[in-house]
Amino acid sequence: MIPFIDLQAQRARLGQPLEDAILKVVRSGAYILGPEIAQFEAALAAFGQAPHALSCGSGTEALVLPLMAWGIGPGDAVFCPAFTFAATAEAMPLVGASPVFVDVRPDTYNIDPAKLDAAIEAVTAAGALTPRAIIAVDLFGQPADYPALAAIARKHGLRLIADSAQGFGGALDGHHPIHWADVTTTSFFPAKPLGCYGDGGAVLSKDARFHDLLVSLRVHGQAVASDLVGRTFDHDPKYLNMRVGMNSRMDTLQAAVLLQKLAIFPDEIAARNRVAARYAQGLGDMVRTPSVIAGGVSVWAQYTIETDDRDGLAAHLRGEQIPTAVYYPVPLHRQAPYARYPAPGGLPVTEAAAGRVLSLPMHAYLEPDVQDRIISAIRNHVKRNG
Ligand SMILES: *Cc1c(COP(=O)(O)O)cnc(C)c1O
Repeated sequence: MIPFIDLQAQRARLGQPLEDAILKVVRSGAYILGPEIAQFEAALAAFGQAPHALSCGSGTEALVLPLMAWGIGPGDAVFCPAFTFAATAEAMPLVGASPVFVDVRPDTYNIDPAKLDAAIEAVTAAGALTPRAIIAVDLFGQPADYPALAAIARKHGLRLIADSAQGFGGALDGHHPIHWADVTTTSFFPAKPLGCYGDGGAVLSKDARFHDLLVSLRVHGQAVASDLVGRTFDHDPKYLNMRVGMNSRMDTLQAAVLLQKLAIFPDEIAARNRVAARYAQGLGDMVRTPSVIAGGVSVWAQYTIETDDRDGLAAHLRGEQIPTAVYYPVPLHRQAPYARYPAPGGLPVTEAAAGRVLSLPMHAYLEPDVQDRIISAIRNHVKRNG
């Protein structure tokens, strides 16, 4: 099998400095919140065009932390797509709130602003839940329609989160999603475009007080500088707990890895875009290739095509030692833990896409000759099967 994502090719490129950085942390003993954490957070904020960045335990916890900070909980509604990884919707029940599922656009697979507006109106009219926030997902690597989403968030007085676990590093008209969103979250799961060597995540935000609150929530609600203004505590303020938080620290080791990887990330985004362009050129007349929002740059977490014969094509490619994947075969509103939550107006676009999408090998180190083999195998199958 050729690799679906080639993390070893990236590791070989990063070479000795990566291994030195890891060994430095091992030898330092500063395994928790060591100096690499603050260095990485500063580098991440600069790259992500955000005033503040907080590293945390995972992309899932990166979604939970802002919901906790805003006090979103029982009786509250948070709007999100169902055509996404479970973590997007899971964050809401984890704080006691309800996800409300909204359909996506057929061209980008991202949340449909017109349907979002209608869903907010419907939930408001029904009166059982209080709309509080929107989580847009940058599915497969491309930014959602943030100008339209920010206008809807403003109109209804809602918070806007960009779940950029797949799209971190992507931009719209030169701006990262934080330009429009209150918060951007991401995941450093190894297979994401910017991944570490384990679990990790981050929350990018704009307001110093809000960031401070996240710092506190990340470590059990411990007192942060703003909590201590005008008050004395006889013991280590580490043990002064101001609120219920959790443990969502990123390991120092992962920050050391990410500092190395962030340095080559812009170059990798360019390489991923070259791979995407080659697929589009080679396949555009045979299958439905992805379309990116006007003015948008995708980081191509996935290169996802659509065909009527998805399962037949996947089986043919497997026979040719070419792996594929289906993201996502069962949308969240059709899965047992999420079936009870509202999906006003239904999700016909989501359901149609779930039966047709197929993701091809995609990473920054995919060689043109290997890619041409993938393209020929797809062309041969589609030609033979009409
Ligand atoms: C991967 C992913 C997450 C969760 O990230 P973890 O680090 O695995 O917790 C959240 N949202 C989306 C869209 C993802 O793809």
